[in-house]
Amino acid sequence: MSLQDYRSFEPVSAGHEIVFIGRSNVGKSTLMRDLIGAKVRIGKRPGVTQKPNYYKFDDLLITDMPGYGYMKGVDRAKRERIKDLIVRYFEDHAARIVCAVQVVDAKAFAEVADRWDARGEVPVDVELYDFLRELGIDVVVAANKMDKVPYAERDGVLDGICVRLHMLPPWRNWLDRIAPISAKMDELGPLRTILKDRLRKAGLERYVNVVK
Ligand code: GDP
Repeated sequence: MSLQDYRSFEPVSAGHEIVFIGRSNVGKSTLMRDLIGAKVRIGKRPGVTQKPNYYKFDDLLITDMPGYGYMKGVDRAKRERIKDLIVRYFEDHAARIVCAVQVVDAKAFAEVADRWDARGEVPVDVELYDFLRELGIDVVVAANKMDKVPYAERDGVLDGICVRLHMLPPWRNWLDRIAPISAKMDELGPLRTILKDRLRKAGLERYVNVVK
């Protein structure tokens, strides 16, 4: 199967799609490079990408959404435009989306969410997760940068993510939806397992090897 990189404003036609989303700097590019061999730049200046990048494997489209949320040096209007683009994209393509992979920085997640909560705002990650679920999209949470979480705090951090995304802890009850990973260390086992399983369940066994 050939890997094509579309980089286009135009939606790409495909029968099936997996979409990767996440706030900027959560490690989405690192993850996608390791997971599907996507030729993405790592550590690029946040906010530069304002359109999805596409990788196509026959009839399966893998989409890399622009990073959202706060980005240094990116004004509010631009951030809102990116958010609108993401929302519209999911509304338009929900039917063909096998699952969305929402990448979060495991360690920072609870702290950032609580800061927003304290201001009386819905944290942007929670807002997006809820929106996707309301559209009926299957969301897999990739809890990245687990290498930064001390072993003793692991369960607490993952339970904290569950609680804020309305999943009843312990996180181990949700092994099919939450994947503790470290893209930097290439420790992606739980996410590989979940994605291969989703593809099989969707009758897309032929694409299982797209996930490296
Ligand atoms: P993106 O903006 O979400 O695409 O993030 P990048 O993939 O460009 O990564 C942002 C920064 O996080 C880079 O410095 C990466 O090396 C780092 N990073 C990515 N994954 C991990 C990880 O699992 N652990 C740690 N400690 N750092 C990571």
